[in-house]
Amino acid sequence: MVMRMSTLFLRTLREDPVDAEVVSHKLLVRAGYVRRAAPGIYSWLPLGYRVLRKVEQIVREEMDAIGAQEVHFPALLPREPYEATNRWTEYGPNLFRVKDRKEGDYLLGPTHEEMFTLLVKDLYSSYKDLPLSLYQIQTKYRDEQRPRAGILRGREFVMKDSYSFDISDEAFKASYDAHRAAYIKIFDRLGLDYVIVAAMSGAMGGSASEEFLANAASGEDTYVRSPGGYAANVEAVVTPVPPPVPYDDAPEAHVEDTPDTPTIETLVGHLNERFPRVDRPWSAADTLKNVLVMLRHPDGTREPLAIGVPGDREIDEKRLTAQVEPATVEPFGDDDFRAHPLLAKGYIGPGVLGEKNASGIRFLVDPRVVDGTRWVTGADQAGRHVLDLVAGRDFTPDGTIEAAEVRAGDPAPDGSGPLELARGIEMGHIFQLGRKYSEALGLQVLDENGKLVTVTMGSYGVGVSRAVAAIVENSHDEQGIVWPREVSPADVHLVATGKDEAVFAAAGELADELERSGVTVLYDDRRGVSPGVKFKDSELVGVPTIVVVGRGLADGLVEVKDRRTGERTEIPLAEAVGHLR
Ligand code: ATP
Ligand code: MG
Ligand code: MG
Ligand code: MG
Repeated sequence: MVMRMSTLFLRTLREDPVDAEVVSHKLLVRAGYVRRAAPGIYSWLPLGYRVLRKVEQIVREEMDAIGAQEVHFPALLPREPYEATNRWTEYGPNLFRVKDRKEGDYLLGPTHEEMFTLLVKDLYSSYKDLPLSLYQIQTKYRDEQRPRAGILRGREFVMKDSYSFDISDEAFKASYDAHRAAYIKIFDRLGLDYVIVAAMSGAMGGSASEEFLANAASGEDTYVRSPGGYAANVEAVVTPVPPPVPYDDAPEAHVEDTPDTPTIETLVGHLNERFPRVDRPWSAADTLKNVLVMLRHPDGTREPLAIGVPGDREIDEKRLTAQVEPATVEPFGDDDFRAHPLLAKGYIGPGVLGEKNASGIRFLVDPRVVDGTRWVTGADQAGRHVLDLVAGRDFTPDGTIEAAEVRAGDPAPDGSGPLELARGIEMGHIFQLGRKYSEALGLQVLDENGKLVTVTMGSYGVGVSRAVAAIVENSHDEQGIVWPREVSPADVHLVATGKDEAVFAAAGELADELERSGVTVLYDDRRGVSPGVKFKDSELVGVPTIVVVGRGLADGLVEVKDRRTGERTEIPLAEAVGHLR
């Protein structure tokens, strides 16, 4: 069916919407693809919905190609499974929670690990059933703190999420690699300019993780890359540490300041000495907000120890003494440090409380026991490894770390040259969940020997609705959108100009013929609209090939214009279908 502009539910706008900051938001609203319904919540109009479905279809084809099977879960979900994995709490204010008429707790799914895990547990029981990959293309809900940039960051958005289930870590590797390869095909087909970077796994938990970022100045993610091919989200960068100074050889000042070995006892002792509490001595279980220390016991087990001032961002020795609440939170609750993103991400390793400085507090860190070196920000004057935690400044409220952590020109951790900073939009995220969800929800199968094994999982997301906007970020000019062919709402934008009905008749016939030969057409058949307005609209809407039927028709010619290059050629009307097919 030819889409005719005379009846198409479309009104283009000359002015940018007032609330729009980024170009994709401006253009998608102006060109009539989406309309805002509420902050971060958008309606899709006919052209926009066509593009969205094309993106979905590409994703679907590539997921099917690796043998993943499509399912569809509800978006309205019960609380219990999310309680079992602690995400009812961990997700914090980002979760849309709803009550039913009986006061029962529900949520609108931000992502579906729990539900997939439980479904597989319901139906599968043997290693023979694995491997398994399931996916859905579904509406997700997150009450984002800053819904901005239109559909780039919605509070309701479309995501493809898939989950892999394997009997072992080795088997998992194949599922991960298959997804990775499928993602490369997806983002290639979407025509995005993107990079694959090492990433942290965030609220999902788990270990190995990579992100697909579309290069864009408007992107909210900062990543580093080196000429030698190293690429990582700054959240995940392991900053190169200065040569380690063994504690035993550390300068005197250090020895005076800190205990020799940061065991839990010495740390607690140190806290009691430096920051005595008024009510009772510090114990390892003490927890407060903002500043965190992780302890590792000699046997390798880790234990969190948190210090800070609740509700107060300024760390101050006196206040610390005076305002410390005698709270030992057990079991750990909403505000507790275990839910703290920094800890969840494993940013905080063991350390020793050092001096406070103007803006926060400094930790002395033993490079031998720091869990990952990304937080060792350098050495102090005495050559000690130090870590500065500045309440509020080192991390944004959602736990992401500001780019200042890593500086342009720093050497890449793998030695592949100086780092360069760049911005990107997270388009896809693949990660190893390991057994976090299968353990919490009891997903086990029998192995060859009849022994119960906990299933190992992966989780893989694509921002489907976000992709529509990211493509526009990557592909537009002053006049409007320039769609890559695979996702364009039509193959050809056919414009009939003038008042001559013969022109409209010829154009109408061409449109029908094109459709019959498999070329989709958006036909501007509006009467009484000036050629100037029609051309402007065609450039704004962004179909890659524009065909003009007008004056040239008298000589049997039509004009073919390439939207991207602006190049125009005249061709005989009789050859148009063959040319455009
Ligand atoms: P971001 O860092 O941008 O907040 P995320 O890391 O929270 O994204 P994931 O949980 O990894 O997102 O979800 C998988 C994919 O879903 C992301 O890679 C992204 O493309 C998309 N996505 C996440 N949040 C949104 C959103 N608010 N609006 C649109 N797409 C989103
Ligand atoms: Mg997010
Ligand atoms: Mg992210
Ligand atoms: Mg992510």
